[in-house]
Amino acid sequence: MEKLEVCPGHPSLKFLERDIQDLKDQNRYIRLRLLESAQEPVSLVDGKRVVNLTSNNYLALANHPALKAAAIGATQTYGVGSAAVRTIIGTMTLHAKLEQRLAEFKGTESALVLQSGFATNVAVCQCLMSEETDLLVSDALNHASIIDGARLAKSERKIYPHKDMAALRKILESPQARKARRKMIVTDGVFSMDGDLAPLPEIVDLADRYGAVVMVDDAHASGVMGRNGRGTVDHFRLHGKVAIQIGTLSKAIAALGGYVASSALLREYMICTARPFLFSSSHPPSVAATCIAALDILENEPERIARLWDNTGFFKEGLRKLGFDTGRSETPITPVMVGDTQKAKSLSEALFEEGVFALWIGFPTVPMGQERLRTIVTAGHSQEDLEFALRKFQKTGKALGLI
Ligand SMILES: *Cc1c(COP(=O)(O)O)cnc(C)c1O
Repeated sequence: MEKLEVCPGHPSLKFLERDIQDLKDQNRYIRLRLLESAQEPVSLVDGKRVVNLTSNNYLALANHPALKAAAIGATQTYGVGSAAVRTIIGTMTLHAKLEQRLAEFKGTESALVLQSGFATNVAVCQCLMSEETDLLVSDALNHASIIDGARLAKSERKIYPHKDMAALRKILESPQARKARRKMIVTDGVFSMDGDLAPLPEIVDLADRYGAVVMVDDAHASGVMGRNGRGTVDHFRLHGKVAIQIGTLSKAIAALGGYVASSALLREYMICTARPFLFSSSHPPSVAATCIAALDILENEPERIARLWDNTGFFKEGLRKLGFDTGRSETPITPVMVGDTQKAKSLSEALFEEGVFALWIGFPTVPMGQERLRTIVTAGHSQEDLEFALRKFQKTGKALGLI
């Protein structure tokens, strides 16, 4: 191949210099860190071995031999890619099998898999909320993919303050809601920044009373909450009471993808109308096989989930004993509240130097004054890993005057 000389950036994009400077001024500039090993509880990041408190690898499946063997086996049999969208020739046996398994796992009539959790939220919101007289009602702290899905939907949207059930009821009682052709309440099951749970039983009651569809995004709950990691609907024993459950295959399931577990009707309708489903290719067979192998583990090794929760309890308790504020978390997502961008950044950097990776999160991802580090432990962390991390939190937190 003839090698091309690298051309200089095109002058028509010069305006980005200013925009990037703005991002830097607002502390929104992102520099990518490089993961140089597999995704492990102790990983090699930017050349440094660190206790990894940042991934969504809840059950430590990302480098699991059985999942890797499944991916390799599927590649040998079915090749590396589907080379088509699902509606043409991109629905392979393994895609159908995975959907069957997901539906069984969730105890729903059907499941439909999409390219990512992000694409799934966008697809469901867009295709169900398709007229201006529809109403999408969303928690203020819902994930960005729900916000974007709501923006792409033709419906009106109303946002209620985080978990504020009185405000949700008020919206549902409004004349606009009463006139709506259909209404849908959308909530994260586990909120991704604070690690708190949606008040699902109350939401379901309100939805029943006012005739609304409930859609729960269980991205951080799949593999984590409920029996065998079935999610928040199972955790609250609301089987059959929540119309639409979204899950991701990119977090605890350790591969890539999203799914909607729901009625057969919704699946049928989405196959014909959901734009990310219609116009974007399906997963490589290796991804589907990986997810099936992960479900085998969820179904047969509940002790992994028990270990995740043991580690979560140990680490949370450890942070609290040291004097850190862990916010309102009820799950393995544990924020360490700092309340100041510069301090959060400094704490994260100091920890990294000491061999612990915990990402800082600032405005606008979280409200001003709630800047924090966000930690996630996994089933794979050893007691020693977590004790090491706690010692480093103590050292750096003291040095920065946080505890
Ligand atoms: C991560 C996440 C998603 C996106 O899932 P992907 O599979 O990574 O696209 C959607 N919703 C919530 C609440 C998430 O945390």
